[in-house]
Amino acid sequence: MTSLAELSVSTRETNQWINITAGVQRAVANSGVREGICTVFVPHTTAAVTVNENADPDVPHDVGLALGAISPDRREFRHGEGNSAAHTKSTLVGPSITVIVSGGRLLLGTWQGIWFNEFDGPRTRKVLVRVLGE
Ligand code: ZN
Repeated sequence: MTSLAELSVSTRETNQWINITAGVQRAVANSGVREGICTVFVPHTTAAVTVNENADPDVPHDVGLALGAISPDRREFRHGEGNSAAHTKSTLVGPSITVIVSGGRLLLGTWQGIWFNEFDGPRTRKVLVRVLGE
């Protein structure tokens, strides 16, 4: 069994983290898959998806700060759009994650959530959710 769902995410600013765990879990429930895997894919070049702590809002803040330190804006960048720092962060974090599905639920750890990372907002973004299994 397989299903494909699309979530829409509206972002307000650059370096915003949005918790999309509930939307992904809904896609898993709607798929009818009980045992399998779920891939979450972000079809954008200045955004990303990651799994990280969903309890303390200071964690997304601090990781965002660290990513900014790893990839600051640089005068030497050539890309005419002026958002090479965002492209770099997108590559560092990555466009997809895979989570195991068991009992019809995402097998996330207690403190884990699925986060959409906006590195060049505000924009309206797409997130694709493929669920595979039986
Ligand atoms: Zn660009």
